[in-house]
Amino acid sequence: MNLCFDIKKAKNYKSNSQIARVLTETWVKENSYCPNCGENHLNEFDNNMPVADFYCKTCSEQYELKSKKGNSVGNKIVDGAYSTMISRINSDENPNFFFLTYNKSNWEVNNFLIIPKHYFIPSIIEERKPLSPNARRAGWIGCNIDLSRIPENGRIFLIKDSKVISKKNVCSKWKGTEFLKTKRGDSKGWILDIMNCIDLINNDTFSLNEIYSFESILKKKYPNNNFIKDKIRQQLQTLRDKGLIEFKSRGNYKKIIL
Ligand SMILES: [Zn+2]
Repeated sequence: MNLCFDIKKAKNYKSNSQIARVLTETWVKENSYCPNCGENHLNEFDNNMPVADFYCKTCSEQYELKSKKGNSVGNKIVDGAYSTMISRINSDENPNFFFLTYNKSNWEVNNFLIIPKHYFIPSIIEERKPLSPNARRAGWIGCNIDLSRIPENGRIFLIKDSKVISKKNVCSKWKGTEFLKTKRGDSKGWILDIMNCIDLINNDTFSLNEIYSFESILKKKYPNNNFIKDKIRQQLQTLRDKGLIEFKSRGNYKKIIL
């Protein structure tokens, strides 16, 4: 991967947003690969295609690109209309998300990550305030993708702090949580919640009691569930079966870094 943008490609554009779009899209087309199947190049959709920006001709996965200038990824990605986003997630039509940050002084990529679509659930989408009555699109409601609500394993960096991560590493991380594709609704919500709880524990090993300490938070999220501890153990079992945690001894677990 070459971290530099091909700035010649922007010579016919004047507005900053158009220049950024052309440079980032060209960069992805020329440098990215498909994190799902490893295909070496991605193809671009026509610009009038509303669903996504890129697709893989081998496995048909689709990718949307969001980018911003600056060094850090931050926690929020500004996206389009809130209602459209929620209905796409609920109908399983959302693409995978590439997120790119670049340094405008030298036009270089510093972070490039992928969030697989199976990590998207309505609770990671934040509703923004409606546009003011004076705005051109008064009342329109946009959304943010809240990255802090996505477990660590769902934020897969291809480039982190200007360092290229090996393709093997990226693809194996992707494959490691692909089982989420088969989960729906609350069943997916539960497993992602427990992954987030595990991320919040600073050690590589943790006990069942440490995970139980999130019981009251989870109860607020699932008020009708009277068996929170049972649910927690069930998710730990799934995560163990999928190779994301290891069972060390009775009530003790170890995180597995993908
Ligand atoms: Zn592919």
